[in-house]
Amino acid sequence: MGAGAAQLGETIPKNQRFATLVSLMLSSQTKDEVTSAAVRKLREAVGGSLSVDAVLATNDDAVSEAICKVGFWRRKTDYIKRTARRLQDEYDGDIPKTVDELCSLPGVGPKVAIIALHVGWKIEHLSGSPVSTLTPTSESSHTTLRRSKRIKVESGPSEPRDDARSLLVKFEGLEETTLQVAVDAPATGTSKRKPATRVKREGTTSPKKQKPIKQALETPHPTPARWSEAYNAIKEMRSRIVAPVDTMGCNRAQLEETIPQNQRFATLISLMLSSQTKDEVTFAAVGKLREAVGGSLSVDALVRADDSVISDAICKVAFWRRKTQYIKQAAQRLCDDFDSDVPKTVDELCSLPGVGPKMAFLCLQDAWKLNVGIGVDVHVHRITNRLGWHKPPTKNPEETRLNLQSWLPLELHPEINALLVGFGQTICLPVGPRCDTCKLNDGLCPSARKGTTTRVKTGKAVVAAARKAGPEVEIAIETETVDSVRDPSSPLSDA
Ligand code: SF4
Repeated sequence: MGAGAAQLGETIPKNQRFATLVSLMLSSQTKDEVTSAAVRKLREAVGGSLSVDAVLATNDDAVSEAICKVGFWRRKTDYIKRTARRLQDEYDGDIPKTVDELCSLPGVGPKVAIIALHVGWKIEHLSGSPVSTLTPTSESSHTTLRRSKRIKVESGPSEPRDDARSLLVKFEGLEETTLQVAVDAPATGTSKRKPATRVKREGTTSPKKQKPIKQALETPHPTPARWSEAYNAIKEMRSRIVAPVDTMGCNRAQLEETIPQNQRFATLISLMLSSQTKDEVTFAAVGKLREAVGGSLSVDALVRADDSVISDAICKVAFWRRKTQYIKQAAQRLCDDFDSDVPKTVDELCSLPGVGPKMAFLCLQDAWKLNVGIGVDVHVHRITNRLGWHKPPTKNPEETRLNLQSWLPLELHPEINALLVGFGQTICLPVGPRCDTCKLNDGLCPSARKGTTTRVKTGKAVVAAARKAGPEVEIAIETETVDSVRDPSSPLSDA
């Protein structure tokens, strides 16, 4: 039912090639059986043969009606008509013979171009560079093209993985065949990544347009007095507490993967799912998603997965509908622009849908072991403000991050997130902090509440109580909390 099958309905070679191209254009974001049925209907609608002339002679409504079951059918109607016009005007009604020319057609990307050349023109020597002229070369490696499988350029041992090219394609209806795809030899023999290809493809999202993430303050924030005493006291308390972040935090997601690339991707997915969601819920959702896509969280598995499969797996996390879209779009971007791996810079990470600075810095720390910034979430933001470390109090996590990065010793940057998140989950709660059991309530914390017994029942009362406890800081209300002077459930009650 794939692109190869489309040409079987034609007798004239030129029309066979055009039918192949049309089939490939219809196939993106669409199941093979739906594409195949749409090609058949379109052929009938244009008079029995899929020729360039016949498509041009058919009005848009008839084309739309024939292909209305495929994804993005309105846009594809436009692409098919405009492509047919270009082919008639510039290529004598036939499809061109180079990747560059094919990619210049509306709605045609490198994947479609390469397969169209292979199926339509039987050209087997292709440059692996997405947009380049076709030049047979000895620098080629072989790959086997199977039905509905991934075309993967198998690099030799001397070729770093980053330079390999891979494409996800559906290619049914033909016998298994071997395609030679040339890959550019690495310039230096090192694993430097090539610049990301920016070829607009249908069904993918453009990178977010954004300013570079600010890395440092022009004037460093003064180092807070007695900060190290407070920090060490928190460390001491944390050493006797197991918090949810310790057993179910985002850095745990990679432990279930064996391939480094998938470990990094699992970390990113876990972070994307974690916003506004408890660690235990995120952890369970990551596990379900892994099962749902076949046992391993790889970029390719997520690209292939239906939205409904992802949604079912992550439906317990907050904003699961939006996160389903973000995950799909991010996986496609990683596949297209980053060789199916997690990028190594905060700006590239923040260009992915649903990824902000906090996730980016944590991802770089956990996935790549790169210490380039602090991951500041609501806990880090709230607690450092309660401790009076920011003068004046910061208004958002980004201000908090820049302040902290300006004075906190670099070697503490990777650990402070988990340290304070766990502290915030168990003692310095968003609402009703357990100051009575906190070792900082004796002069190290200006927000400490002495000997109070607060029974909190409503969100309104919670906010009022929390504001009395220190500087006005935006807080996240996670659960209704009961706070008492002698709380037997205190994590430090046996201290
Ligand atoms: S004394 Fe209270 S407000 Fe201050 S760090 Fe401890 S729990 Fe948080």
